[in-house]
Amino acid sequence: MSAAESILIIEDDLATRLLIRSVLARHGYRLLEAGDGQEGLEVFAREQPDLVLMDVMMPRLDGFTTCSTLRGCEPIPGTPVIMLTASDSDSDVEKAFEAGATDFITKPINWPLLVARVRYALRARRTSRELVTTRLRQEYAQKIARMGFWAWQADSGQLEWSADLAELTGVRSEQVDSLPALLEQVHPDDRKRLALAMDVARSDRSRLDQEIRLLAPDDAVCVLHLVAAHHPAQGRAELFEGAFQELTQVRETEQMVQHMALHDTLTGLPNRKLFLRLLESAIERARQNGNGVAMILFDINRLGRINDALGMQAGDQLLGRIASSLRQVLPLDTNIARLDSDEFAVFVHHNDLMRVHAKTEAVLARAAQPISIGDEQLFVSMTAGIALFPEHAGSAEELVQAAQDARQSARLQAKPLAIAKPVSANKAVELKLEFALRAALDDHFQQFHLVYQPQIRLSDNRIVGVEALIRWEHPEIGLVAPPRFIPIMEELGLINALGEWILRSACQQLRRWQDAGIHLQMSVNISPRQFQDSALSEILGDAVAQAGIRPADLKLEITESIAMQDPQGTVELLRQWRERGYQIAIDDFGVGYSSLEYLLRFPLDAIKIDRTFIKDIVESPSDRAIVRAVTVMAQSMGLTTIAEGVETQRQQDYLDAIGINQVQGFLFGKPMRAEALARFHAAHYTQLQAGGAGHPSGQCLAEPLA
Ligand code: C2E
Ligand code: MG
Ligand code: MG
Repeated sequence: MSAAESILIIEDDLATRLLIRSVLARHGYRLLEAGDGQEGLEVFAREQPDLVLMDVMMPRLDGFTTCSTLRGCEPIPGTPVIMLTASDSDSDVEKAFEAGATDFITKPINWPLLVARVRYALRARRTSRELVTTRLRQEYAQKIARMGFWAWQADSGQLEWSADLAELTGVRSEQVDSLPALLEQVHPDDRKRLALAMDVARSDRSRLDQEIRLLAPDDAVCVLHLVAAHHPAQGRAELFEGAFQELTQVRETEQMVQHMALHDTLTGLPNRKLFLRLLESAIERARQNGNGVAMILFDINRLGRINDALGMQAGDQLLGRIASSLRQVLPLDTNIARLDSDEFAVFVHHNDLMRVHAKTEAVLARAAQPISIGDEQLFVSMTAGIALFPEHAGSAEELVQAAQDARQSARLQAKPLAIAKPVSANKAVELKLEFALRAALDDHFQQFHLVYQPQIRLSDNRIVGVEALIRWEHPEIGLVAPPRFIPIMEELGLINALGEWILRSACQQLRRWQDAGIHLQMSVNISPRQFQDSALSEILGDAVAQAGIRPADLKLEITESIAMQDPQGTVELLRQWRERGYQIAIDDFGVGYSSLEYLLRFPLDAIKIDRTFIKDIVESPSDRAIVRAVTVMAQSMGLTTIAEGVETQRQQDYLDAIGINQVQGFLFGKPMRAEALARFHAAHYTQLQAGGAGHPSGQCLAEPLA
């Protein structure tokens, strides 16, 4: 019994009331009293007791009227009401139940019986409340998951559906109450597959798991995921029972995300990712046919200045115009893409340098003509770089790189266009890097160091973590960016050694911060090859143990492509890591091609939305829609969302409005050395405490880790 349970005694006879009170008080209940029905109703409304004991015969309002009035004004129905009837009169008992009483007890009161009935009624009330709460929770969960139940009587072909079907799809359960009726309602392309799957499930008594399109009213089509298993019950030997889930929105979002991930939203042209894919297959075909591929990169000079002077909108219009003039000038079979904000690229299936050169000049000449946007006449110039397969590069990535290098050298020489250098020159650079990298590893990682970029929780502006990022500084070559050398290390199989060094260094740094009272979560990037290393789990455990930190202090960042290489194996490994307490984040989310819904089935803690979606979030409704969709979906699965590459306050405001949990980017803080981060951290909290930036002040400074 809970000591806090309260009982209201409504009884006009003072002596009886006092007696009841003294008996029940001994059992630890909190007692409330009222001298008649009217007063009883007032106390009931005010105190909301857990149980009511009520006399039948009272002045002003009698017990029956009081009870039925009380039933009409209960905030949560089902408060037990026990009536005290004067005699064992059948009609009183009858009337009591009619008025809504739960139980009765006759006067003179049998005290042990009264106590037992009270205890019983309170226990029954607790159980029924728990049941109601559980049921409501289940219903709610089912509703947000857009789920329902169905059953299939396989011998008769009869189908039953929960009412959710009509709510979610508009198809009434009577319309699909038999197998033939269901098949009739299914999209013609899915009928055969479903019929066959149900046939197999029936004959093997195996599980059914099918996604189908249901023809809904008003020519709508709903995607429905059906699962069921053989579940004989109550003499129905061939009964299958299961659940359905309405996934139309999920699938649409997924398609949209996939389209957006491959196209530039402003011009509708393929983006870098898709361009590389198309280029790769063009090169593959050319390789087989002994043909060539030519690619040209066009870079708009000083687009930033135009944006600054005339505004983003004018800049966007300009880009649209340039895209359409490219289409007009170039032959129809040219593939055109927008690789970056001010960078267009094209490729064609031949390597006639003269023709390519002439076409490039035509594009540049056309671009040099004034373009009018609004009242303004704009003069734009572009710089181009040309690269050919196989003369200048052997793969898509290399071809783009070669064209970029050519464009760069044109710029340096102040020429409108330049042609790439033969492949040997590029190879020489790669070889030099490769050699320098091997030497750097032999040099006990002296040329490497880690920098840390803060991650901010938007709800309270607190620094909740940092991401460790590797830096390589060669004495002669200078600082080399990770995307430039990590792939080489991957290829050479050197990444595991560096990865281990990164992991151990990051753990030790975290420990030093913890000792200094700085509590943060450390995100570490795991590269694809490192992820496949069977020793990784052991290295992880050792790094954490040696540094004396908790696994929960570490967040491991893996990319979609890693996860999708071997989904089954990944799920298993991630599950093991999470069991040990490590947190897992998917990095660069959105740039891969993986199925969103599939990916979200991985055991994850966080999703880092790639910078490409954040970059244009202010201007681009479609990028916003994607980020919003991903956020909603991620959050419904309990994942934290982190936006990468936030550079402006406006981007952050949009992200905040969309409901993103955390941000990481140059706006708040660039990646910095450990000592600088400690100073940054202290300065941030001093400012927060002073009430800076409109954030709550005076909260505890040590950040408890979730
Ligand atoms: P990532 O894991 O997505 O890291 C974020 C990258 O975005 C970092 O580049 C960071 O400097 C950059 N960044 C952060 N905020 C902004 C911003 O507001 N604007 C812009 N333009 N960029 C921003 P970084 O350090 O050059 O690293 C690039 C990639 O190289 C990383 O992408 C990661 O994939 C890889 N990488 C970096 N360090 C490591 C490492 O220690 N191990 C492994 N395996 N990979 C690493
Ligand atoms: Mg990362
Ligand atoms: Mg990233």
